[in-house]
Amino acid sequence: MHQRREHPSRGRREAHEVQLLDHLRAHGATDRAALAEALGLSRATVSTLTRDLLASGALGVTTGSTPRRRTGRRPELVTLNPSVGLIVGVDLGHTHVTVAAADAAHVVVGTRSVRCDVTTPWSERTRIAAAMVRSLLATRGTPRLLGIGVGVAGSIAHRETVVTDTHDELQRTFGVPILLENNTRLAGLAEHVWGVARGMRDVLYLRLAAGVGGAVILDGVMRVGARNLAGELGHVSVTDEPLACRCGKLGCLESVAGRQALLDAAGVADLDLLAAALAAGDRRAETAVVRAADAAGRVLAGACTALDVTDTVVAGELTTLGDHLLTPLRSALTRHALPTGAEPPRLHLAQLGQPAGALGGIGALLRDPDLALPLATTAAS
Ligand SMILES: [Zn+2]
Repeated sequence: MHQRREHPSRGRREAHEVQLLDHLRAHGATDRAALAEALGLSRATVSTLTRDLLASGALGVTTGSTPRRRTGRRPELVTLNPSVGLIVGVDLGHTHVTVAAADAAHVVVGTRSVRCDVTTPWSERTRIAAAMVRSLLATRGTPRLLGIGVGVAGSIAHRETVVTDTHDELQRTFGVPILLENNTRLAGLAEHVWGVARGMRDVLYLRLAAGVGGAVILDGVMRVGARNLAGELGHVSVTDEPLACRCGKLGCLESVAGRQALLDAAGVADLDLLAAALAAGDRRAETAVVRAADAAGRVLAGACTALDVTDTVVAGELTTLGDHLLTPLRSALTRHALPTGAEPPRLHLAQLGQPAGALGGIGALLRDPDLALPLATTAAS
């Protein structure tokens, strides 16, 4: 056990330890030099803090897959002690249930997914998820479960019953902290924690699929907004044409760039046929995709201008159309962005695919400092 040492600056030292633990909880494995820079502390201070926290069992070390230094050695990375247990993420999508688990060092130890019918009741999806969580934990020797972050399809601002019932059912079953959030927002957060947006301060995330949604990350924090609607990029108006949107409005981005709207405009039944039509140079298909991409780029550019964001991530099944979609999207983003003389906003392709929503549930738990997880404590506590 760590011996308490009385020291005149103990209060400040404990504050530094808390800062360091919070940083590792949010960002995962970090080398000591980067920790010193992020926390505004000297390397000597970070070295002393990490030595004591390692001795107390609060931290672990890894060399990860960081680039080797000139000496040929990889820098040692510090993490929260990964042996304290696992954090689980769940994605209750419209047509799938996905679960993922990671340790406190941000190492993803498993994911699994099953398809479900779009009519499956939410209570049934929650039961499927609970069984998948138990089975995933069993494959890891049933470690301690620290918390569950759950993504739910659709705007959670309008799903109070689903959110409350899912929360209560999972809490009854597992007895750990449960967090619920919109699954598209969580997928965006996951790209920030593990994917293409890792290390970026500000990011706008746009998902083009059956629905069109997004996420807003500013100063490294996923924003939810005053009415829990931040990131609803699919419901920004893009045309005066009376195209009905499921939100009740006319002319939303989703009514132009949602999967069904795009397929209808292109005159094909599914995305495979759309890809084939594009490959064959079909003019109607090309026009429909360019129109959807232009509308999406216009909305992203507007949000980038309003928030002064320079990085965007595009995700969702429509991105399987590749450059047919991405080239006009990138071009629209540039054309509609504020001409500052600097580089236009960058467009990145999402990296995480299907497990992103579930991974984001884990990321949201790790990033929420108000949520008490039984993770590491300071050396003196
Ligand atoms: Zn709408």
